[in-house]
Amino acid sequence: MQCRIISIGDELLIGDTVNTNASWMAQTFTEAGIEVSRIDTIKDELPVIKEVTREALASDSIVITTGGLGPTHDDVTKQAVAELFDSELIVHEETLSFIKKIFAKRNIPFSESNYRQAEVPADCEVLLNTQGTAPGLWFERDGKVLAVLPGVPYEMKHLVNTYILPRLRKTLLGTEVRRSYYLLTSGIGESTLSDEVIGELDSYLNTGVSVAYLPGPEGTRIRIRGRAPSESALEERLQPLIGHIREKAGAYIVGEGKDLRLAEAVGTVLLQEQLTIAVAESCTGGSVADALTDIPGSSRYVKGGVIAYDNEVKIAQLEVNEDVLKEVGAVSKQVALQMARGIARRLGTDIGVSTTGIAGPGGGTKAKPVGLVWIGFWNKDQHFALRAQFTKDRLANKKRTTAVVMEMTRR
Ligand code: ATP
Ligand code: MG
Repeated sequence: MQCRIISIGDELLIGDTVNTNASWMAQTFTEAGIEVSRIDTIKDELPVIKEVTREALASDSIVITTGGLGPTHDDVTKQAVAELFDSELIVHEETLSFIKKIFAKRNIPFSESNYRQAEVPADCEVLLNTQGTAPGLWFERDGKVLAVLPGVPYEMKHLVNTYILPRLRKTLLGTEVRRSYYLLTSGIGESTLSDEVIGELDSYLNTGVSVAYLPGPEGTRIRIRGRAPSESALEERLQPLIGHIREKAGAYIVGEGKDLRLAEAVGTVLLQEQLTIAVAESCTGGSVADALTDIPGSSRYVKGGVIAYDNEVKIAQLEVNEDVLKEVGAVSKQVALQMARGIARRLGTDIGVSTTGIAGPGGGTKAKPVGLVWIGFWNKDQHFALRAQFTKDRLANKKRTTAVVMEMTRR
């Protein structure tokens, strides 16, 4: 069963908007076992939309479009599909009263053009959109499905999760069970992990089971996918493989989950051991605090921090020694350690962490090149600092430094 995604919108073609809808859908459908054959990105132009949709329906069994459902003149997707199926636009009463209610609630006057928002092709099924004003449209013709969805990402996701996926699963997938497990690893490169630590997995990888290594700024995620005729058959295939990987790579595995973050694993450890943390950030400018506080409930262990970008702030706020600063410079092991100690003392936390480095792209010297970072850790029993050498990419350096802080704190 193949699916075509058609992304509609001028803003996508001029590069104003990144096509996150297509990547999210491709990921979501692939996970569900629906193969995406192609992604087309096209203009808000009626004849183009009509032609590309027609052609897609000729070759794929599922076609999903997003965008161009709004009430303004540049949104013409509804007219295009209505013409494609020789259907006229009629007002959908349920949608109309829903939109009127929203407008009343927000105290916005309801204008004539808003009636267009409630118009749908006469012979399609309307997918009521509770997250916005443009409903989705569902057509079934000759055993094929065309779903027309709004462009606003959270509205599109809502309709995919509520209607599209359950329907496709039911009508087209039969009883096959599919599942993906994700294991987040950290502190090890992708190729060392796959080639040396885990090694070859051929004996596990027949019969609809696959493993992929997905490197990212937080570490490498191992994705283990499988499909089988039944739940128990699937577990029988996947569990030995997951067990084997856990055994081999256990020391590097942070935890399970597609969206598991390193900061979440840090939070789990701090909560378990009832420890508090404070951050002193120079080159990361707040990224470490940002990552830590992305986790719900982090107020139980994050006390706060100081962005000590300037040396004077390091001295005044973190008790960094002025002579040391002069002697060895801000980007040094000593200063990283003093910053971590300073913030822990200042805020009275169990742990202090710090970052100081040359984020780039400019600056740096032969002895201290761009991308050099010192990361400090301090608690009452131990203190140490790690040296990392990253690249000239400023934003990537901030992300990678943040990841090292998390990795260091977690352990
Ligand atoms: P609505 O009637 O709710 O406005 P719509 O179907 O008319 O929905 P558009 O006007 O095409 O949607 O787009 C609405 C917003 O969604 C825009 O801000 C646009 O940038 C964003 N958007 C549209 N398509 C995509 C896409 N493929 N990926 C990410 N964002 C998108
Ligand atoms: Mg648009």
